[in-house]
Amino acid sequence: MRIGIIAIQGNIEEHVNAMSKAARRAGIEAEIVKIKHKGIVQTCDALVLPGGESTTLGRLMKREGIADEIQKVVLAGVPVMGTCAGLVLLARHGDKQVERTKQPLLELMDIRVNRNAFGRQRESFECLLDFKGLDSPFNAVFIRAPCITEYDRDVEVLSEYDGHIVAARQKNLLALAFHPELTDDLRIHRYFLKMLG
Ligand code: GLN
Repeated sequence: MRIGIIAIQGNIEEHVNAMSKAARRAGIEAEIVKIKHKGIVQTCDALVLPGGESTTLGRLMKREGIADEIQKVVLAGVPVMGTCAGLVLLARHGDKQVERTKQPLLELMDIRVNRNAFGRQRESFECLLDFKGLDSPFNAVFIRAPCITEYDRDVEVLSEYDGHIVAARQKNLLALAFHPELTDDLRIHRYFLKMLG
């Protein structure tokens, strides 16, 4: 199978490495491809939307024609894991800042995001999170992280930190406010690979 990492901006190599390792360990033969241009998204069985700067990422994806392609394949059921800025981009609704700047979102998941939920004091931190489906806490790395402030009925909340929703799933979409590609624990990647059926 082919797993595409949107490679326009952000922490790409970490995602490539973590996904290759997770697939290998799960006994899945996977080719990991970096997506910089249009024409590749539709050849992939799953996609990763990395962290970075959601404004830049969103604009470039739109300009390159990748945003349209992602929207189409998601509607056809292709699983997508969005981390941090990737979570912001998956959202259907943003906060006041997002609305004011009119940054483009993919508008695929029925959630509202708070783009910089943890403020300046806590720009980055690590913590142990309970994550639904994992039998012990996950060490999560947060970097200028967003959170989910509202969600529709068929969105499943998977993890909360300090009263903030930091992970959720809706059908084929997995949204994480933190960076599972930055730690050695590959259980969340494994969780995502299971979503591929
Ligand atoms: N808060 C950033 C944004 O919305 C995301 C930060 C990250 O991906 N590490 O652009």
